[in-house]
Amino acid sequence: MNYRKVIDLQRQFFNTNATKNISFRVKELKHLKHVLKKNEALLYESIYKDFKKSEFETYTTELSIIYNEIDLALVKVKKWSKKKKASTGLANLPGKSYIIPEPYGTVLVIGAWNYPYQLSLCPAIAAIAAGCTVVLKPSEVPSHTAATMAKLINQNFGPGFFKVIEGGVQETTEILTVKFDKIFFTGSVAVGKIIYEAAAKHLTPVTLELGGKSPAIITNDVNIDMTAKRLVWGKFLNAGQTCIAPDYVLVASDIKDELLSAVKKYIEKAAYHVDNQNYTQIINDKNFDRIENLIEKDKVYIGGDCKKEERVITPTVLVNVEFSDKVMQEEIFGPILPVLTFDTIEEAIKKVNSLSKPLSFYIFTKSKSIKNKVLNEISFGGGAVNDTLMHFTEHTLPFGGVGNSGIGNYHGKFGFDTFSHYKGILQKPFWIEPNLKYPPYSATKLKWLKRILG
Ligand code: NAD
Repeated sequence: MNYRKVIDLQRQFFNTNATKNISFRVKELKHLKHVLKKNEALLYESIYKDFKKSEFETYTTELSIIYNEIDLALVKVKKWSKKKKASTGLANLPGKSYIIPEPYGTVLVIGAWNYPYQLSLCPAIAAIAAGCTVVLKPSEVPSHTAATMAKLINQNFGPGFFKVIEGGVQETTEILTVKFDKIFFTGSVAVGKIIYEAAAKHLTPVTLELGGKSPAIITNDVNIDMTAKRLVWGKFLNAGQTCIAPDYVLVASDIKDELLSAVKKYIEKAAYHVDNQNYTQIINDKNFDRIENLIEKDKVYIGGDCKKEERVITPTVLVNVEFSDKVMQEEIFGPILPVLTFDTIEEAIKKVNSLSKPLSFYIFTKSKSIKNKVLNEISFGGGAVNDTLMHFTEHTLPFGGVGNSGIGNYHGKFGFDTFSHYKGILQKPFWIEPNLKYPPYSATKLKWLKRILG
């Protein structure tokens, strides 16, 4: 495929100013929802083929998130796109100031494989709401999903406005040689650096949604049963293949045993089996082997069964884990939960801060002072107090990383902002112009200027 041609086509279309029209954006977003709703069976089927994932989980973790993002944009896009008044300083009176949101232009969205629909389509929705044209390159790893996305979008939208290009490393490398007005990438830290470098050649702004090891700290005053329930759900959803899954647990040493037995209880209660559709497969053999290799058999508290033919790894909890263990050297991105302990909160904070800044962070505690201390002293993308994952579903919260876990954010209005440039405008009338700033300068003028400007 000649990628330059696709992008030229999008530029031509963007330059017609059609996407600047709010009713155009509303029409296209409604159309996208209609296309997805009409083809829901295909969406469920493709996810099932790639992950053996249930309709229940595909709805809760993919479709509902996409529909919510579209519905919110439909209600808010007019307000978000309005020019906003800003105050004007004495030096510019009489005059008025305002800010105009303007779409970046032709943007590239590159998706990850773990929630292939929502991680590709939610940024695209934000870009459309902001008035951009979109080239979407979904992850090639879930092949059925990528093909379905390409089919649905390319059959229902003009290529000058919204186009899916399928492909892997080679195709993406080629696409990245072309200049875009914004690149939105979701994926690994290593590839994020490649994207950043390619974007820098064209001075293209980027949003990088990356990963990392997201910790859960649990103090000894918690409701252990509720903590375990929320922890187990957040960890083993999608078989741990969630960028914001609690990667590891740091629990107060005096409640470790109680927490472990509650975790075991909830793993058993959830009946995690692919056959009953309460669980999902590991995406491919490469990831299966990588995850299996992280399990040290003599540290398994529960789980640890690896069935290669089915690509299933049972929910696994590891105990007696040290920070130097191999499971602590990389993002797990699979169903293994290492449990480490701490004696003082200062020690826990120090350990978390010794690793790269995480995408998410979870603190389970009833103590207000500990909560405030960790939120103040640990840098991370976003997170939850006494819960896991659910901060992702709040469109009022920006979602994104910091440091190694990413640059920028999205969801709701934050997504609109991510694809918008804010033009600052000062507008002056013709009827008056004070002479103070103009030469010839004088001591009197300077005296007055100092009074006005401070
Ligand atoms: P990945 O980096 O391997 O792939 C992401 C995308 O980049 C894919 O579309 C892929 O085709 C493309 N790509 C891969 N190699 C490339 C290269 N050399 N040049 C150009 N493009 C290339 O990531 P993944 O395996 O799909 O996802 C797993 C990672 O993504 C984990 O680290 C996870 O934490 C992170 N993630 C982050 C978020 C988030 O919202 N922050 C969400 C999901 C996943």
